[in-house]
Amino acid sequence: MLFSPHILLPGPTPIPEAVEQAMMTAMSDHRGHLFEEVKERVLSRLHTLFHLDADGRVAVLPASGTGGLEAVAQNFFRPGDEVLVVEGGLFGQRFGQAAEAMGLSLHRITTDWGHAFDPQTVVAYLERHPVAGVLVTHNETSTGVLNPVDRLAALMAPLTHRPLLMVDSISGVPSVPLDMAQWGVDVVITGSQKGFMCPPGLTMVAASGRAREALLEHRAGRFFFDLTPYFQGNFPYTPALSLWYGLDAALKLLEDEGETARYQRHRRLAAITRAFGQAAGLPPLVAPQDASPTVTALEVLPPLSPSSLRQQVAAKGLQIAGGLGAWHHLAVRIGHVGAVDEADLWAGLGILAQFLSHPEEALVKAFGTWHSSWH
Ligand SMILES: *Cc1c(COP(=O)(O)O)cnc(C)c1O
Repeated sequence: MLFSPHILLPGPTPIPEAVEQAMMTAMSDHRGHLFEEVKERVLSRLHTLFHLDADGRVAVLPASGTGGLEAVAQNFFRPGDEVLVVEGGLFGQRFGQAAEAMGLSLHRITTDWGHAFDPQTVVAYLERHPVAGVLVTHNETSTGVLNPVDRLAALMAPLTHRPLLMVDSISGVPSVPLDMAQWGVDVVITGSQKGFMCPPGLTMVAASGRAREALLEHRAGRFFFDLTPYFQGNFPYTPALSLWYGLDAALKLLEDEGETARYQRHRRLAAITRAFGQAAGLPPLVAPQDASPTVTALEVLPPLSPSSLRQQVAAKGLQIAGGLGAWHHLAVRIGHVGAVDEADLWAGLGILAQFLSHPEEALVKAFGTWHSSWH
């Protein structure tokens, strides 16, 4: 920490050493056997990780997560197609912006910041307005809310003209459960720099068999992001080899930990962070039932301000995120996602505590929460 920052951010997240080392693999022909092997392994592990049906496929593209959102708007919908965007924060808005920029015609349901959407309201709207797609955010990173995508998918299942369900889970998967086949989710978008423990630069777009049938063969305004070859396992353009090697190593680590342990770890880190905030005079802004396991927004009360607090902790080597949009002057966000465990969180909370009015109480409360999770 003396020489590199300690990061508790909802992306980019820390990179495990095995991933860093893998990314130093020497360059070789991307049509050669090394990449072929890595590609097969990564795609098959991703298939398992997303819980895809047999006809489902994953495209791995060189772009940050937003590129994946744009690719979805380009590959499954034509200009003028009507889609419903359910937004309750900055990233929900962004999904809508990407769709709008690709010429789609938008319906919107807006949820108050800090609250999960109500699946009943969404489905009631769909019954009155048949649309081609529903675009939702699984884990809203700007507010730290986990949305009930499972319940929405279940309620959408009986609809006669069931729209495609497109889910931005860039800060959700693989840190929180999402079972595409069982839930009935058509497309999931993720990014490499959050729970996948890699640097920014790759987006993974997983499509169910049903979604692949809806993939457009021809579509104006699409070239690089045409998903057709990717779903066939072909790479028309040079893949970002180093990031692929890193992803290969990261998927191995994720598999070794196991998904149940991984989900529990993220929930535990979120619970510790909330207990700390509550006792430290930084109240969590989201109710427990809506709270994200990967990022927690804490309210910063006067005389402190989010920017002054972030500056103070940054001077001690800790980086936390600021509030976004409407919460810019209200909150800081603690990321506990990816290659982060209790030791990493304690180090960060220890630094944060130095600048708060009840540091001992906060650390004791947080410890109590951790302790009760041992049994
Ligand atoms: C991080 C994030 C994005 C955008 O990702 P970029 O990689 O910055 O393009 C989109 N949606 C959600 C929910 C995110 O957390």
